[in-house]
Amino acid sequence: MKIADTYKKAKNNGLVLSNMTLMEHEQVVFCQDSETGLKAIIAIHNTTLGPALGGTRMWNYDNEYDALNDVLRLSRGMSLKAAISGLDLGGGKAVIIGDSNTQKTEVLMRKFGQYVESLGGKYITAEDVGMNTKDMEYVRMETKHVTGIPESMGGSGDPSPFTAFGVYMGMKASAKYKWGNDSLEGRTVVVQGVGHVGENLVRHLSEEKANIIINDIDDRRLDALSEDYAVRIVRGDSIFDLDMDIYAPCALGATVNPDTLNRLKCKIIAGAANNQLADEVRDSQTCSDKGIVYAPDFLINAGGLINVYSEIKGYDRESSMNQTREIYNTTLEILKKAELDSITTHVAALEIAEQRIKNRKSS
Ligand code: NAD
Repeated sequence: MKIADTYKKAKNNGLVLSNMTLMEHEQVVFCQDSETGLKAIIAIHNTTLGPALGGTRMWNYDNEYDALNDVLRLSRGMSLKAAISGLDLGGGKAVIIGDSNTQKTEVLMRKFGQYVESLGGKYITAEDVGMNTKDMEYVRMETKHVTGIPESMGGSGDPSPFTAFGVYMGMKASAKYKWGNDSLEGRTVVVQGVGHVGENLVRHLSEEKANIIINDIDDRRLDALSEDYAVRIVRGDSIFDLDMDIYAPCALGATVNPDTLNRLKCKIIAGAANNQLADEVRDSQTCSDKGIVYAPDFLINAGGLINVYSEIKGYDRESSMNQTREIYNTTLEILKKAELDSITTHVAALEIAEQRIKNRKSS
């Protein structure tokens, strides 16, 4: 299906492709291969600061429009994330449509790698939901434009511990701003999604003696974590009605929306998921009106990107950790800027990121 047809059909079906148009993106590529069953979309949002880097997500989307919507939003988020983190990277993202548990094969991943290669380095891929370092090894067999490859192959390995550390830094900075003290000891934190990032975040929170509640749709993950950490399990969407200090979305996007905001009693939202706000403008404003400190997702979940960027430059784990630790100071600055300028925290972060891209364009 041509992209224009997909877009038209999405509109006809009443699906709004978030609050952006396709025209914001430099290039969107549909990949289809009947032999391997590969169906993927690669979106390149902006390459002003450098090549578009962003992970590949494999998800069993209900339809192609949902996949397109997701990849467009995610790739834009990557441009903002790189810009606000001071990295010379553009924003891109890829989605593979399918069940990562049953449909992921070596040939499928290698075919996907060939599509990445065909873009000549304009897009660089990495891991995201539904992917692991082994999958990146297969992609690496077809293209060098991949990061987050195993340490044994000279790469930086799994970016998730860095992402989780950055989220933890952003969460502590938000606590400092809200309560004047960044200790999370005794604070009730609900972590929704305890996958790669969520588990690492739980480790940090547990070391700090936070009161941790975990939630996941995968019972195996809940069981595994409850064996290793002192956590309480709450299943389903009743988590939004719990008494909590901090809500940490670490699963998928759009969980901060009018329904959940009506129910949430937290004082801080700080998590790893991309595009947490269903509608950026509306939902960040509601957070602000309700006195909830929203730590912008693209700012605090940049640790993994910082780490894979280091892989391109010549990997240095220590310097990646130090740069990720800086998320604490940047978060505090942005929360203060939002208060000073009477704007939402999301808009404050957006302004800084967009300004950096504009400055580069005009230089
Ligand atoms: P993951 O696939 O390892 O973990 C996601 C977890 O969320 C899984 O355990 C899954 O079962 C669970 N989940 C899915 N839908 C859910 C739902 N409706 N309710 C509760 N749990 C649900 O992914 P990850 O690498 O940990 O990434 C988590 C989020 O952080 C994603 O949104 C990802 O885009 C974002 N992110 C990840 C990185 C990274 O370095 N991995 C970097 C930046 C952003």
